[in-house]
Amino acid sequence: MRILITNDDGIYSPGIAALAQIARKFGEVRVVAPDVEQSSMGHAVTHSRPLSYKKSPIEFPGIEAYRVNGTPADCVALGTHLWSKTDVVLSGINMGPNLGNSMWHSGTLAAAKQAVLLGIRGIALSTPVGKTEPDFHALEPFVEKVLSSLLEETSLALYNVNFPEHPTDITWTRQSVRLYDGTVIPGTDPLGRKHYWFTVTPLEPADEGTDRWAVENDLVSITPLRLDLTNEAELKKMIQTQPVGL
Ligand code: MN
Repeated sequence: MRILITNDDGIYSPGIAALAQIARKFGEVRVVAPDVEQSSMGHAVTHSRPLSYKKSPIEFPGIEAYRVNGTPADCVALGTHLWSKTDVVLSGINMGPNLGNSMWHSGTLAAAKQAVLLGIRGIALSTPVGKTEPDFHALEPFVEKVLSSLLEETSLALYNVNFPEHPTDITWTRQSVRLYDGTVIPGTDPLGRKHYWFTVTPLEPADEGTDRWAVENDLVSITPLRLDLTNEAELKKMIQTQPVGL
């Protein structure tokens, strides 16, 4: 099995090193990742300048690794073009959760989504970062368990996986959809210029069975996602109440 590994934290992230080593147990691994951090870039693609594909400056023992001057989605497009017959793309392990509404701007998830758009299976993996860096060694058995079951699947599904800091078990979940409180916090840089931080906080507690609820309860969350965003109920209602066309 050919497993392409990418992320949005950049090639230097400890999360991608941990994922690449665990993935080696499941097949042939290649790393293609952004040369700088691309978190929260969503599904941006580079179309107005060329991309480069260079050997990674850091070693991934036993693995070919390349850095790209582009986004996570670029890395998947280019990586799977240059490594034919890629079976699956793993994206992560992201340093920070990708739960609920953050799926809309996650670069980690966008990389897995890009794979599925190209007809290749895609799995995004993320974990929260507290005051210390994540203990990837402690997460390893859970990452391995998740991969061994998801890699068995041959359907062209997209999976979003989130690991709590101290997992006790693994569960299937749905996306938590909650309104967010977007707060802009002003500050001043060392030269006296005004700058701003945009932060978001969920307004309501997470419902049971959702991704946020699982991680808050020390469970590894696996959410199967689809690419079709169509609101079926709204579509049906609009066709009936506001017919358009001639
Ligand atoms: Mn990130």
